[in-house]
Amino acid sequence: VHEGDWRRAAELVRGAGEIALVCHVSPDGDALGSMLGMGLALRAAGKRVAASFGERRFSVPRLLRYLPGQDLLVEPGDYPAEPELMISFDVPSLDRLGLLAPNAGKARELIVIDHHPSNTGFGSVPLVDPAAASTSMLVEELLDRLGCPVDRDIATCLYTGLVTDTGSFRHSCTTPAAHRMAARLVAAGLRTDEIARELWDRSPFAYLKVLGAALGRVTLDQGAAGGLGLVWTYVDRADRAAYCLPYEECEGIIDVIRRTDEPDVAVVLKEDDDGAWQVSTRSKGRVDVGRACTAMGGGGHVRAAGFTSHDSPEETVARFRSLLRPSV
Ligand code: 5GP
Ligand code: MN
Ligand code: MN
Repeated sequence: VHEGDWRRAAELVRGAGEIALVCHVSPDGDALGSMLGMGLALRAAGKRVAASFGERRFSVPRLLRYLPGQDLLVEPGDYPAEPELMISFDVPSLDRLGLLAPNAGKARELIVIDHHPSNTGFGSVPLVDPAAASTSMLVEELLDRLGCPVDRDIATCLYTGLVTDTGSFRHSCTTPAAHRMAARLVAAGLRTDEIARELWDRSPFAYLKVLGAALGRVTLDQGAAGGLGLVWTYVDRADRAAYCLPYEECEGIIDVIRRTDEPDVAVVLKEDDDGAWQVSTRSKGRVDVGRACTAMGGGGHVRAAGFTSHDSPEETVARFRSLLRPSV
């Protein structure tokens, strides 16, 4: 991030009366945590704040309902049409703004806070650092430059971004800076045990049944180019309907699948309520799944990426597999 862009961002925030915040659709812990943490700090600094994400069925994922600051959220229909100052969080490209992409197009200034290598360079002030473990790390730096104090609620939001995007400090992006930030946030009084339980250690009983169905048809395919192995499975609407399990509860299945020793890549296809397949992919590092997912119309990071498909799971996996190349 250029020093001039940090200064310009701080200057714009200081000068604004009303600030519109947006994160990517299907918000994860980093997207929503970064946005709400910033929102709480800006409100404490006397700004009027509206925060949202561009989804028709607007609701906060069950896993993230513990996040403070949700009273800052407005539905996309109530979002400023032509914001004076807009800030996006964890958004690599305009299409990930969903229904709010036109609002971003009309914003007078758009600060982009992000850490995706695939960031397209949209917006007027880019605060984009692919070396940052989470977008919330960049938010912490901006708050520091603004002189905004980080209280326990703000810390809970920013820590959520950090702990989710580092996979509980397990992924390769877990730098000394990530641990130092965690130490600062924990010192603000947040409860790491409660956050971990909310994020990873609870689910409805129905989840176990649907996970069982997904595991029952998991496939290990070791025939991809370059000797790359791929493990994959899917969850369709019928599986979820049989046990009344909401779509959002299936997010953790990829973490069970990806632990398999043999393959380089893990894939889980989840059919959403509209019948589209949301595809989660993970790599152990030998393959850049972000690049393969970009070629499939999605995007993401080297080791965690995704895309949407309207074809059958078998066809989708075959096409995705043909794009995999050992890159390191
Ligand atoms: P997940 O599998 O947890 O849904 O997504 C993992 C990562 O892949 C996300 O952090 C995000 O960067 C990326 N990703 C997932 N789905 C999409 C998509 O449809 N489009 C883009 N551009 N990126 C996605
Ligand atoms: Mn994200
Ligand atoms: Mn992120």
